[in-house]
Amino acid sequence: MPEPGWIWPLTRRERMWHIVFPLSCPFCGCKLKMPRRVCETCEKDVHIGRKEVVLLAHGIQPFDVYAPFFYQDRVRAALVRYKFYNRPDLYRFFGDVMAATLCFLQEEEPVITWIPVSPQRKKQRGYDQSELLARRMGKMWHRPVEPLLLKKKDNKVQHELSKKERARNVKGVYGAQGDIVGKRILLVDDILTTGSTMQEAASVLWKEGAEHVTGVVAAIRGCNQPGRIL
Ligand SMILES: [Zn+2]
Repeated sequence: MPEPGWIWPLTRRERMWHIVFPLSCPFCGCKLKMPRRVCETCEKDVHIGRKEVVLLAHGIQPFDVYAPFFYQDRVRAALVRYKFYNRPDLYRFFGDVMAATLCFLQEEEPVITWIPVSPQRKKQRGYDQSELLARRMGKMWHRPVEPLLLKKKDNKVQHELSKKERARNVKGVYGAQGDIVGKRILLVDDILTTGSTMQEAASVLWKEGAEHVTGVVAAIRGCNQPGRIL
């Protein structure tokens, strides 16, 4: 469980850097005093240290998806900035919280991978938000991070569609690459809403011979029922 006010100890280099350029709160943007990573007001609101889990019961095999946050209020606003408003720097905060609160998942010694955006989207945005989270977790845990999935075609933006349309929209958009057979895989994405994207991506990994898949996201769409089945 992280200590109040900070999620992961800053490295010496980061501390020196933040003497010159103070860290700001990822949720409200106020300047922080070291070693805080979140301001006191936001900390009370976002409940750092929680572990949420849902079971994705459809697709080839049921599997768990974990998250440190629900996708609501300040968390939602910060993730929207991260994903759509050119704030790639927020990967450090969200990646650190995911690594710290879900550290028990390291025990399975997984290979970490992520659900990629298309090359066109990555070029347009300048970064792949799930890749940055996966790489940060790998760095924190000293675990390998491998690109095991690729997006074969650019589909419609998921958040504009209904649940049924989402499931149809992601069918067949992901392909596999690299060595997957027999691997225990931690599959990283940014947000879990209906679970369609996560199910589709995990199905590709199961079909390619993955031994085990567990999902991890920064936030699960708002519902106060941890452990629910999607
Ligand atoms: Zn704040």
